[in-house]
Amino acid sequence: MAGSQGSAEIERLIQLLAKLPGLGPRSARRAALALLKKRESLLEPLADAMSKAAAALKTCSVCGNLDTSEMCAICRDPSRETSTVCVVEDVADLWALERAGIFRGRYHVLGGALSALDGVTPERLNLPKLLSRVREGGISEVILAMNATVEGQTTAHYLMDALEPMHVKVTRLAHGVPVGGELDYLDEGTLSAAFKARRPF
Ligand SMILES: [Zn+2]
Repeated sequence: MAGSQGSAEIERLIQLLAKLPGLGPRSARRAALALLKKRESLLEPLADAMSKAAAALKTCSVCGNLDTSEMCAICRDPSRETSTVCVVEDVADLWALERAGIFRGRYHVLGGALSALDGVTPERLNLPKLLSRVREGGISEVILAMNATVEGQTTAHYLMDALEPMHVKVTRLAHGVPVGGELDYLDEGTLSAAFKARRPF
């Protein structure tokens, strides 16, 4: 990488930082420099926090959420309704809904959206697991909170077809989710309105 005069270790740090969303090579160099200048107050605690998170990280065996136990805090929470499941593409969408504080049921995280172009098939997503959760019973409503992208809507239609024979109510978020928009980018008011006005698929 041109432009910085660092050692191989520093170059490696910059290259890894540049892979983070929102950071290009230039901001990665600035971030790396900030870390290196604050070795004790930033670089070392960050390295420690990252290595602890990496060691403890688990994918919830029920819903696909990221947590540090086999079953995530949401799936373990007895105060949350078990009869309503909100299906999201990504953990970021789950976080957005939790920040908005509008949903007290359980989630199912698909880990992406169907895409013929990118070769993302149902089996490559956490999708068969959702169908078996519904098949096991006890779920009365499945809320499809897919993003308003082509892939998100393809996924929602696929799920609608797959869930239809299972006699479960399937709803989707109302208007308010902009076309091409992702849940994570919505303000809490918009998300809350879209959620409350959800309608049958
Ligand atoms: Zn879970």
